[in-house]
Amino acid sequence: MSTTPYWQETLAPVVPGPPLDGDVTCDVCIVGGGGTGLWTAHALKEAEPSMDVRILEAGTVGLGASVHGGGFVTLAGAKVLRRLLWYYGTTKAAGVYKAVAKSMLEIGRFCRKNGIDAEYERTGILQVVTDTKQLARLQLQVDRARKLGMDGSMTVYDAEEARERIGSPTVLGGMTAFGAVVNPHKLVQGLAGVVRAQGAVIHEQTPALDVRKIDGKFQVSTPHGVVTAREVVLATNAWQHTFSEMTDRVMPVWNHLLVSEPLTGEQLARVPWPGREPVSNMRSFFFTTRLTQDNRVIWTGGRWHYRPGRDMAPENARNPEAYRELRTAFDAFFPAWHDVRMSHANGACIGWSHSFIPQFGRTSSGLLYGHGYTGAGLAASHAGGRILRDLILHRASEYTELAYVTVNQPKFMPGKFGDRGADFFVWRQRTGDRIPLLLPHRAALSSRSFFNRHRRGPAERAGS
Ligand SMILES: Cc1cc2nc3c(=O)[nH]c(=O)nc-3n(C[C@H](O)[C@H](O)[C@H](O)COP(=O)(O)OP(=O)(O)OC[C@H]3O[C@@H](n4cnc5c(N)ncnc54)[C@H](O)[C@@H]3O)c2cc1C
Repeated sequence: MSTTPYWQETLAPVVPGPPLDGDVTCDVCIVGGGGTGLWTAHALKEAEPSMDVRILEAGTVGLGASVHGGGFVTLAGAKVLRRLLWYYGTTKAAGVYKAVAKSMLEIGRFCRKNGIDAEYERTGILQVVTDTKQLARLQLQVDRARKLGMDGSMTVYDAEEARERIGSPTVLGGMTAFGAVVNPHKLVQGLAGVVRAQGAVIHEQTPALDVRKIDGKFQVSTPHGVVTAREVVLATNAWQHTFSEMTDRVMPVWNHLLVSEPLTGEQLARVPWPGREPVSNMRSFFFTTRLTQDNRVIWTGGRWHYRPGRDMAPENARNPEAYRELRTAFDAFFPAWHDVRMSHANGACIGWSHSFIPQFGRTSSGLLYGHGYTGAGLAASHAGGRILRDLILHRASEYTELAYVTVNQPKFMPGKFGDRGADFFVWRQRTGDRIPLLLPHRAALSSRSFFNRHRRGPAERAGS
């Protein structure tokens, strides 16, 4: 199996540009050339075309987590919604959902406007349940979405209807929600091209080694030069913890994915999947699956792998245990595809924020940051670019009012305690997924009446 991310093979090889060589001064220096850094540069140059914006990228632009993803353009997961409601209340939670939903649409518009064929499709996403505990979660999710007024694009399906949409014998029901798919590599490379055309400079092979504030300006040291800037944005996602002011805010955890060989027509016909929409289940460590344009199946998610000491060495991407677990889950969900061969297996780190809620803001020294998508950053990083733009321009806006911009975020414990906490969390989630529902819950006890009540779409409900 190849360990190169599959998406990378869908474009001609990307050759990194030359590193920064010498000292430079600019208005804004963005550290990290993934979705967050690029969307920030794009939004800034749109608002202030004359602004001198530079991006420092340790490797090649877009080849961090962005190229490793499954390409699911989604709203935040169920856990995030629960926490948003819990920490911030209904209005703020709805504000985040609306902003990210808007970003999901704007990504499509951006591709069309700039002629980027990023395989963007507004498919919706089908969330399925495969055990009684998830039935209870489905009910809670439906109730919460209604509370936020976000149920407009939501339709609930009982087991039979859900299996017509995705032919897995394990499915007990499901719901569709707002969502899209994209080829994340083509999107990020297209975005990088637009950002360069707007006049922002991207220095690849240029790791930021240290950031200091001297006489009211920031100095970012790199191996071959120093960048002096009025504003510095840390947009390094799972690597954020490598900067001293960020140590306790982001925890890197490994997540892996499998990509199959292209399915034959006969293989495809074995599993009904008429809408080809991406599918996820509702376990704590949920999986997600989708088809690519060349009819490969992507299977990703499952448990996180924490490496002591926050080890992000690239060789951790090769993880036979993770691949075995993913394959077992794939075979259980798609028994009809037991003979499908996987051609690609790899992994990367997601940036886990303690609250699971993405975080944007300023540190006490004045550094700006954006991170903590906890595995769902494609759409949220677009909204994040707008937030960072408005924070840089010191303008109050609908973006700076979002619950993502907070000051008192819960943090991870440092050192050994942080390691143990992360281990414990992974254990707790895995155990929770294995233990069946213990408390009586109305959806799980009487799934028939739940589906009868909810499965009609919003239009039908309004008409009844
Ligand atoms: C296996 C997997 C599957 C995923 N699937 C999805 C999905 O389907 N949908 C979704 O929405 N999200 C998904 N994600 C998450 C998504 O990929 C991230 O949330 C998103 O890429 C974050 O973008 P970013 O720009 O913040 O980070 P990144 O894309 O990781 O970019 C950060 C960049 O910073 C650079 N950098 C780091 N340190 C330095 C330094 N010191 N100096 C200079 N540069 C530095 C890195 O090289 C990197 O290019 C997935 C993640 C993984 C790991």
